[in-house]
Amino acid sequence: MRKSSTGHDWVHTEEASTGVELRDGDHVAVIGGGPAGTFFSYFFLDMAERAGLEVSVDIYESRDFSGVGPAACNMCGGIISESLVQHLATEGIILPSTVVQRGIDSYVLHMDVGSVRLETPLHEMRIGAVHRASGPRDLEKPTWESFDGFLLSLACKRGARLVRERVTGFDIRDGVPGIQTKSSEYKEYNLIVIATGVNSRILERCRELLSDYNPPRTTGTYICEYRLGAGVITESLGNSMHVFLQKIPGLEFAAIIPKGDYASVCLLGDRIDADMVQSFLNSPEVRGCMPNDWRPDDRSCRCSPLINIGGSPRPFGDRIVFIGDAGVSRLYKDGIGAAYRTAKAAASTAVFQGVSARDFERHYLPLCRELKKDNGIGKLVFTFTKRIKGIGIFRRAIYHMIEGEQGMAGKSRRMSMVMWDLFSGSAPYREILLRTFHPAFLVRLFWHTIHSIMYTSKHG
Ligand SMILES: Cc1cc2nc3c(=O)[nH]c(=O)nc-3n(C[C@H](O)[C@H](O)[C@H](O)COP(=O)(O)OP(=O)(O)OC[C@H]3O[C@@H](n4cnc5c(N)ncnc54)[C@H](O)[C@@H]3O)c2cc1C
Repeated sequence: MRKSSTGHDWVHTEEASTGVELRDGDHVAVIGGGPAGTFFSYFFLDMAERAGLEVSVDIYESRDFSGVGPAACNMCGGIISESLVQHLATEGIILPSTVVQRGIDSYVLHMDVGSVRLETPLHEMRIGAVHRASGPRDLEKPTWESFDGFLLSLACKRGARLVRERVTGFDIRDGVPGIQTKSSEYKEYNLIVIATGVNSRILERCRELLSDYNPPRTTGTYICEYRLGAGVITESLGNSMHVFLQKIPGLEFAAIIPKGDYASVCLLGDRIDADMVQSFLNSPEVRGCMPNDWRPDDRSCRCSPLINIGGSPRPFGDRIVFIGDAGVSRLYKDGIGAAYRTAKAAASTAVFQGVSARDFERHYLPLCRELKKDNGIGKLVFTFTKRIKGIGIFRRAIYHMIEGEQGMAGKSRRMSMVMWDLFSGSAPYREILLRTFHPAFLVRLFWHTIHSIMYTSKHG
């Protein structure tokens, strides 16, 4: 247990630390300057200062987030969830208007049976749409700031040192981890934080070095950007995220997200290929919400990053901890929110408990397990959604249930709330599942399903 600079105990733990604690003058390396790495550095330095601990943090990141296109970008849909916006606000971190390109006030759910709008529960624009770099490849003059660049600058203002280099070597010698870059000598650290995301070779090296570590499981995605202009986006897509429940085999989730001058198309699934992308982009649902003169082949940028779908079971070792996507994330949703949570929990463990595998097992693993358990429920929810979106009668029932809820107040909009939380990532999957067991939800779904069966048998 660490003492504060005033001599008071910070945390009262039942079990004492294992003795591997950070001391004044120690050095910490963070590999990766994405959200997980920058949140860790920010909170770690803040907590260390409060605990009276003088340590240095080096963030290794080779990307220049002020650039454009995939080389500068940690590819993603760019939705900052309602819950993360709120958490950051309580930490005193307000996302500036130069970073948030559009406040999202609603979701539009598109199905072959029709499209229906879901408003934010409180009619606020708490969900932010951002670009992770300055913008897509064809951007001539950046008008917006990069989200990742903003977070990195916060961490640097807090005292972290940015080393603009890629880590090329990682080793553990006599129990002490160390790293190497192309231009620098091998350097040992008292703690190494792995925040590389899932698209990095470092994780394979970690598997070789740490007998208990397995990198997260991943699946394929596809992202492309269209430059439509702010006015056209406001007219066609508005301030809504457009989500598609379509019967395209292998497609788990599809969305179009409006930003400043661009709209981002995001597809998730285990069999994404050129044919699937074409059949999605040319579907009547997509054509129906994009502008009339939009051409699917006129993309500004595209990429196919991997996404974490199964966190690492033991994301730590002695003096090593994996955070964000490199450790455990949330299934298909709010990955940046999960990076925030894992980064903060790892920082608190390192400052107040210790940096041995035992310390991380006792104080960091419970959060990872909680996220993994919820992902297990999320998997169930997605399997169920996949099944029902394949059956026309259910698609129609969901459509009419949401449509019928539009005039209702708050909590009575049961299907709308379930869909809202499923798309926005604002609630744990457990909560979403529990809401579907509510008798009022089941009765209404049953009633709309009967209507849908009657409609189908009458109209074919
Ligand atoms: C298609 C898609 C859509 C998504 N949409 C959303 C969304 O809308 N909202 C949301 O919250 N989440 C979304 N996510 C998830 C989100 O992108 C991740 O959860 C989040 O970026 C994880 O942050 P991170 O810092 O762990 O990893 P990353 O963001 O991947 O950052 C890792 C950093 O490490 C650096 N790095 C890697 N290797 C090295 C090395 N050897 N040396 C130095 N640096 C290195 C990289 O350059 C990078 O900057 C999406 C993901 C995908 C794939």
